[in-house]
Amino acid sequence: LLPFALLLTLIMIGGIVWVSRRRLSPRGELAIAVGKREFVVHYQPVIHLPTGACVGAEALVRWRRPDGSLVRPDLFIPLAEDSGLIKPITDQVIDSVLDELGPTLAADATMHVAINLCADDIRTGRAVRVIARKLEGKELQAGQLLLEATERGFIDVEAARTTIGQARAAGHSLAIDDFGTGYSSLQYLQSLPLDALKIDKSFVETIGLDSATSSVTDHIISMARALGLLLIAEGVETQAQADYLRARGVDFAQGWLFAKAMPAADFLAFHQQRRAQ
Ligand code: C2E
Ligand code: CA
Ligand code: CA
Ligand code: CA
Repeated sequence: LLPFALLLTLIMIGGIVWVSRRRLSPRGELAIAVGKREFVVHYQPVIHLPTGACVGAEALVRWRRPDGSLVRPDLFIPLAEDSGLIKPITDQVIDSVLDELGPTLAADATMHVAINLCADDIRTGRAVRVIARKLEGKELQAGQLLLEATERGFIDVEAARTTIGQARAAGHSLAIDDFGTGYSSLQYLQSLPLDALKIDKSFVETIGLDSATSSVTDHIISMARALGLLLIAEGVETQAQADYLRARGVDFAQGWLFAKAMPAADFLAFHQQRRAQ
């Protein structure tokens, strides 16, 4: 009788949780997901174009719902940013990166991982402090972590400058993500000590189409070079795009031509196969 009563209680509790969860607002659901750490990180290989070697990855978050389905980040990151839940999500991404790739990063100093930071963390420097604390006692180097942020993070130029200074002092590199897709000012780009620029997929897509649109890509490349920024192209889907970028001196690329984002174990196997010799 006792096991039966226990089973009944469990079913009832499960039912209550299920019903209450169904009635929650999207924000409420996301808050519960944060509490239950329902986020997983997939890793998209970053390729050195001249050699084809895999030099690292970008960490891309997914929300794994209790039913096992994966929710794409663009479906919950905007809500997470508006509600402030992005901060604990960022922290969980950092934890996953250090847990899943930490040992390999420590053993292979040439391997890098890029982490996406939200605009607010660029303004306040919060994530940089969190990373510093989590790196204590770890063997990997801060320089193996590349921090990415979109233009929105750099609107408050003075605040961004302070955070970038702290991040660089800690040893990290900083990349401007999705450059040219949002609020852009060449002035701030020139005045901030950034390390890298990621060429958005929307520009890579224009390569080989009409010359007017793809010349924007050329301009981004020459501007980045003038500013001494390392270039990483994203969304590379065809060999023609890879060849074009490589011919223009873009050294790094990610995209489905090489690999999609994948779970840590798959990424580590991919990296092992294709790491720099
Ligand atoms: P992003 O930072 O620009 O990341 C690149 C996106 O392009 C990823 O989508 C990636 O899977 C996708 N992608 C890469 N190669 C190709 C390709 O060849 N073709 C196509 N069609 N797509 C490609 P994903 O993983 O869905 O991420 C979407 C966005 O969500 C990211 O764009 C980023 O802005 C945001 N995001 C992802 N993870 C995080 C995170 O941990 N923190 C924050 N703040 N934002 C994140
Ligand atoms: Ca990114
Ligand atoms: Ca990007
Ligand atoms: Ca993008």
